[in-house]
Amino acid sequence: MALAAWAARALGASGAVAATAVGAAVVIGAGWAGGLVLLAFFVSSSAVSLAARPDRLLDAKGGRRDAGQVLANGGAAALGALLVRPAALWIVTASLAAAAADTWATSTGSRSRTPPRHLRSGAPVPAGTSGAISALGTAGGIGGAAVTALVGALVAASGALGVAAGIIGICGMLIDSMLGALAQGRFHCPACDAPSEWPVHRCGGPTTLLGGWRWLTNDGVNGMATALAALAGAIAWAVWSPCC
Ligand SMILES: [Zn+2]
Repeated sequence: MALAAWAARALGASGAVAATAVGAAVVIGAGWAGGLVLLAFFVSSSAVSLAARPDRLLDAKGGRRDAGQVLANGGAAALGALLVRPAALWIVTASLAAAAADTWATSTGSRSRTPPRHLRSGAPVPAGTSGAISALGTAGGIGGAAVTALVGALVAASGALGVAAGIIGICGMLIDSMLGALAQGRFHCPACDAPSEWPVHRCGGPTTLLGGWRWLTNDGVNGMATALAALAGAIAWAVWSPCC
């Protein structure tokens, strides 16, 4: 699958290597049921990305996902599945529901007629700005969490898993936006006189820090949100699996 995604230019070379490792860890920890949830996340997120308007997104890294993006989205699911085998399917579904929510929100938000508003300032900002939300993007994110949670519920034959993962995925997306608004590094490229989300601009030049933490990039925020969602998935499993 990673090779096919690399050939289709959905993944860069480092992204394909990382995706292979994530896929192997998920299948080892959570079985083929976990693999199906991962597949649902990857196929649906790639399809929604195709419908996005990247030209409208601020400072996108580009279509080909690199290892940092892959691990930010799937690393927590992979690690959780290996470390906590009994709860693996809950961890994988909850964490990937959060990852899907964020990916779907960014892609559908790029089609919003009204620009998103920044959570800190309340001001309208370009689509794709971290920490900003729009109605259409939020609705899309809820859809992404729901689809991933539904596939998890079907392969596990557990409605409790589906409900828990759906709620965790939506909460993960909101935490992602809050961290993006309050803590993520905000940069400016002096050469292009353009806002940026990265310490090095896509032009190759260094950017200057405007606010937030320099080391906390968009990949870092995504990684924190999916890790919290994985932890919440394990807690939900401990609470609900004995009864339902
Ligand atoms: Zn630049």
